[in-house]
Amino acid sequence: MRECFEIRDTDAGGRIGELSVPRANVTVETPALLPVINPNLDTISPRRLADEFGAEILITNSYIIHGDDDLRERALAGGLHDMLDFPGAIMTDSGSFQLSEYGEITVTTEEILEFQHEIGSDIATPVDIPTPPDVPREQAERELETTQERLEIAEDVDTGEMLVSAPVQGSTYPDLRERAGCHAEGTDLDVFPVGAVVPLMNDYRYDDVVDVVAAAKRGLGADAPVHLFGAGHPMMFALAVAMGCDLFDSAAYALYARDDRYLTVRGTRALEEIDYLPCSCAVCTDHSPDELRALPDTERESELAAHNLHVTFAEIRRIKQAIRAGNLLELVEQRARAHPTMLDGYRTLLDHAAQLEQSDPVSKGSFFYTSHESARRPEVVRHHERLERLSVPDSLLLTEGSAPRSDEYDDSWRVEPPFGPFPRALSKSYPLTAEVPDRTDRAALAAAADGVARLVDVNPAADITLAHDGWPAAVLERVPDDVSLVDLTAA
Ligand SMILES: [Zn+2]
Repeated sequence: MRECFEIRDTDAGGRIGELSVPRANVTVETPALLPVINPNLDTISPRRLADEFGAEILITNSYIIHGDDDLRERALAGGLHDMLDFPGAIMTDSGSFQLSEYGEITVTTEEILEFQHEIGSDIATPVDIPTPPDVPREQAERELETTQERLEIAEDVDTGEMLVSAPVQGSTYPDLRERAGCHAEGTDLDVFPVGAVVPLMNDYRYDDVVDVVAAAKRGLGADAPVHLFGAGHPMMFALAVAMGCDLFDSAAYALYARDDRYLTVRGTRALEEIDYLPCSCAVCTDHSPDELRALPDTERESELAAHNLHVTFAEIRRIKQAIRAGNLLELVEQRARAHPTMLDGYRTLLDHAAQLEQSDPVSKGSFFYTSHESARRPEVVRHHERLERLSVPDSLLLTEGSAPRSDEYDDSWRVEPPFGPFPRALSKSYPLTAEVPDRTDRAALAAAADGVARLVDVNPAADITLAHDGWPAAVLERVPDDVSLVDLTAA
């Protein structure tokens, strides 16, 4: 267990955790949002972030401070906390982003880590190489090697109580991301940003983001605090949390405000196209869209940034509540409906259902089957695995109908989409208590048929009969040939 991070509650791959930041003497509850503060521009002051929005942690760029004489002197003289006037934890970035944008920077990992320590950063970042997506494998490997050398250098820098992050790179190669996660986990560094995913998010490649994060998580192990670097749009937080991300940083709230863009959990809207404001924050209840549009530029930017932050923090709270209630995946399903690329992201998340299943609680409050993707949730995967451990009599009836009165079979089990077969005694236990629509879809029937196939597969000697409510031929094809079939709707 990492000393700085403790997991309190889990749902799917998501968790509520506590990140202890000793240098700030602050414990940050995760999932947490780190608003990005540009030390040169103060759209919303750090003090206001803490007091009005409840921000416990923020992130700013030590490389910008290092390169600006005035900022550097002030930060060295009074410390970051005084300079920004922020009472919570402060994480600093190192200039890696500038490296990826402009090709070179003028500090080494030792220099920038020591500088971050001198200005009072609570969580520092070494200079890693943010390899973009889709580069040749040879480049991804070479740059990953450099990043790993920098992490090893960072381990040797004396940073006292300051936490240090260990970025995980590897471009769009899952095996490299997994290897990078494994290496980072082996260091004594503290927080694990999954880096260089911004280009993927800018291109709406949420499916690739999911694959990259899932791979990094396989290397990192379950108890590592994971930061999705550069992920600031609330639309994708639920998906990212369900993958197992704990920290997000948002520059989006300010950048979008500057362009007159209004964030919602279902996407971004241009202020000029909005007739009604779908939000109850102070900005949206005090202004009509016309009034917002009529404000002077800086005031409009500040009001929009405040709304954008309200939406962003509200979504983080909604996600935490969903984890507590055990319905995070229902929230992800809702968000996935906002955009086809988000749906691709959710479907890819379900490709990793077996990985999510490892942290998913065995019992929760509810399972609502709300889309055909629900048939691929980790609970269904787990039920199919559990079938291997159940003992099966010589002759068994699996039925969607009631138990037979005759003693033609040694026993009769229920069959319910999407889970498939289970002993009647389990019908009151999660997830078999799921609420499934009466108008069952093909995916739920197919998953149930796969459950039957799994049971037959591990009990080849048993004599199994399936009584179904008119399953279509394409679904029945998934059931092994030696199962006797009875169509309950045929009578
Ligand atoms: Zn609002």
